[in-house]
Formats: sequence, structure tokens, C-alpha cells
Amino acid sequence: MNADFVALRERLAEISDLHRALGVLGWDQKVTMPPGGAPARAEAMATLGRLAHERFVDDELGRLLERLRPYEESLPYDSDEASIIRVTRRDWEKARKVPTELRAEMIRAGVLGNQVWVEARANNDFASFLPVLERNLELKRRYVECFEWDDSPYTPLLDDYEPFMTTTEVAEVFDAIRPVLTELVREAPAVDASFLQGSFPVERQQAFAERVLETVGFEPGSWRLDTTVHPFCTSFSNRDIRLTTRYDERHLDSLWSTMHEAGHGLYAHGIAQGLERTPLATAPSLGLNESQSRTWENLVGRSQPFWTHWYEPLQATFPEQLGDVSLERFVAAINRAEPGLIRVEADETTYSLHIILRFELERKLIEGALAPKDVPEAWNAGMRELLGVEVPDDTHGVLQDIHWSYGGIGYFPTYALGNVISLQIWAAVKRALPDVEEQMAAGELGELSTWLRENLYALGRKLTPKETIERITGAPRIDPEPYLAYLRDKLAALPAGA
Ligand code: ZN
Repeated sequence: MNADFVALRERLAEISDLHRALGVLGWDQKVTMPPGGAPARAEAMATLGRLAHERFVDDELGRLLERLRPYEESLPYDSDEASIIRVTRRDWEKARKVPTELRAEMIRAGVLGNQVWVEARANNDFASFLPVLERNLELKRRYVECFEWDDSPYTPLLDDYEPFMTTTEVAEVFDAIRPVLTELVREAPAVDASFLQGSFPVERQQAFAERVLETVGFEPGSWRLDTTVHPFCTSFSNRDIRLTTRYDERHLDSLWSTMHEAGHGLYAHGIAQGLERTPLATAPSLGLNESQSRTWENLVGRSQPFWTHWYEPLQATFPEQLGDVSLERFVAAINRAEPGLIRVEADETTYSLHIILRFELERKLIEGALAPKDVPEAWNAGMRELLGVEVPDDTHGVLQDIHWSYGGIGYFPTYALGNVISLQIWAAVKRALPDVEEQMAAGELGELSTWLRENLYALGRKLTPKETIERITGAPRIDPEPYLAYLRDKLAALPAGA
């Protein structure tokens, strides 16, 4: 093997290890750390982040990448080696534009901001969160100044999560889905879901979720599930997947939130071994990553076939609540469209509207068209307009999400893009596995999981998001039509007045 390439791999492995150590600190911060650990943790994470960044933007890495051009050109475009060189070069050129101090400052502000947010959210206290939002926006503006953009200063922020996509392209997708979704929500039939509220002991929810997780395609000994305030998934290798969820005795939402994080986990679990300890050991974009959490949460986890198998075990787990509820009523209830206040509890139809609101606010904040202090008012007005709901307080409004606390601006659009992409990929799944629904009805998820791993997850970040979507679906762009058709069909199938 090429000696420069060996040297590149060694450097990338070291940097990947630093990022994974940073990931462990972040996981611990959110899952087990006592609040008093926050200041020291912020310093430790800033230090590791700075070290990883310094090693990555190193001149010698650039010289290696330059010397490797002829080697790269001698290899197939989608080979592991050529892809590692090409993708690392883009990352390197991008990272070189950002001063190390600014990056460390963003990480530090993010960790401290996160701790303030936890308190502010619990106390319905936007005023105490405002300085965090202002600080993060100020740092993001400095970050944006490191880059060039054509359409909006929001595009460089978006590029961190959805590479190669512009603000204009996102707005086009959202403009296409917004009017259809608002109409679908307005016309959706009322469905009785009262039985989904009640008393569902947390230990039984947890045991049921773990039973389901054992069938979705994780190798035993390669994952764990913990509880946290705001569910997320992270991984420290393709054999160390950390899922988190939150339980509420009053309802079963944790089940789908767990399936959601499992989808992220399966992506990380499926990354090809040859890409481990490189920057390519992840999805090509958060939209693609989210397309798979959505696939497992919704296209699998809310489908009639999935519940054909799993409903009896669920009834047996909660006989007082569900013993008298038929499968048909249950499936209708979990697929209903009903405007609500909380994004992570939103149904499939209203979900993307929550995202469109956040995208529009973020864009205005970054473009300077909205002052941070006016965000609660703009939030509440947007919720009224898009979903027709009144926001009673900031805890159930602008303070509900973790993202702005750590500076994750530009992240939200990827959730809705994930919804859209999931249906494009699902169409390809159904072509490849025509009996996938029969398999799900038999409780068999292995073939589905394997197909997705071999055709999508294993690719990691070798290809761009658009190239990845094209390879799987044949379409070179994000197409909202399969998503809108799916929602129309699904809502049309709901029994009116059930
Ligand atoms: Zn997700």
C-alpha cells in the first residue's frame, strides 16, 4: 500500500480517537454527569476539541493529501482509499478556514449553554437563556465569516450538517411541502387515541423496547440504552452504539423515540469496517442519517405489518390499557395527524411543520432579520399560523429543544429532509424486497436491516448526499413527492371518526 496513504490513515485514526473521546465526554455529560461537573467538563471538551482540530488542520496533513492526488486518481472513485483522500481533503480545506480558538470557544459556549438551557427549560425562564442564544449566534456569525456563500449566510451553517446543500434548495423543498402539510393537518379526521394516555409503568416500557431492539439487527454486545432528558444516539465505533431515550409513565411515546434512535444506531452499526477511525465512519449528511431514524420509527414502527406481529406482545405487556383495543384502532391512533406543541412528540404529518418554523426563525436570526429577544413571540406566532395551536409557555415553546443551547444552528432542517428522503429510499427497499411487509408481519426485520446496511449504511460518507441518494434510488435529488404521497395515502386510510 502507498506509504503516504498509510501515514494518512494513521493520522486520521488518531484524530478519530480524539473525537471519540470527546463523544464519550459528551455522552456522559448528558446521561450521567452531576450538574456540578459542567464547568470542568466544558474545559475538558474544549481541550480535546482543540487538540483534534489542531491535528486535523496541520500543514503536514495537507501535504500528504496533496502528494496523494496521483494515487487517488489511479483508484476507482468509490473505493475506500480514493474516498478517504477526497472526503478528507474537503474537510481539511473547510476546517483550515476556521481559527482553532473560535472552534474551541464554540465548544465551550455550547457546553455551558447546555447547562443553562436545562435550568431555563425546567423553570420556563427564557430571559436566563437569552444570553446563551445571543452568545451562540455571535459565535456563529464569526464562524460564517470564515466562508463564502451565494444565497444566505445560513448556507455555511447548513453545510456542517447537510453538505453541498444551499439554503435556497432547502427552502424549495419546504415551500413544496408546507402547503400540502398544512392542508393535510386541517383535513385529517379525528381519531380516538384516548387509550394511548393512561398508566404505562416505565419498567415495562423499558423491557418492551429492549425486546424490540433485539430484533432490529444489532449484534449482541454492541449497544446499550440509557435514559436522558433529550433522547439522542451516539457511537464510539461501529460496535459501541449508545442509544438514549426518555420514559413517561403517562404514555408510550418512548417506544417510537427509542425506535428512532435505533435507526441512527443501525446506521452507525452498519458502517463498513474499512472506514472505521476515519472521518468517513458516519452518514454523508444528517438528512440521510435522519432518513433512517425515520424509517425505523415510522415506516417500520408505525406500520400495520410491524404491529401485526408486535401488537399481541404489547397488549400482554399493558393488558389494563390495551386489552380491549383492537389492532386496527391502535394502528389508526398511532398514525393520526393532530397538531401539538412538542416537536419530539409530533406525529409524522405535523412533524415537518415544526421544523419549517425552526428553519425560518434560524434563517432570520442569522440573516439579522429577527432579534434573539423577539424569538418567543415569533415562535408562538409561527405555531399559531402553521399548526393552529396556542403556546402556553416557553417550556412548551421556544425552550423545548436542546439545539440552540449548544449552538446547533442549521441542524433542524435535516430532520424534515430526513422525512422526505426516507420515503425515496423506502421505495427502493420495496423494489428490492417485494415481501418486506410480509416479513415485518412475521416479526422478521433481519433482511430489511441487512439490505439497508449493505446498500446504504456501509457506504458511510464515501459519496456526497446527492450521490448516495442517486445510487440507491436512481434520482439525483431530494424529491418530496413520495413523502407527500405516503402521507396522503396514510391519512386517507384512517377511519373517519373512529
Ligand atoms: Zn434523529
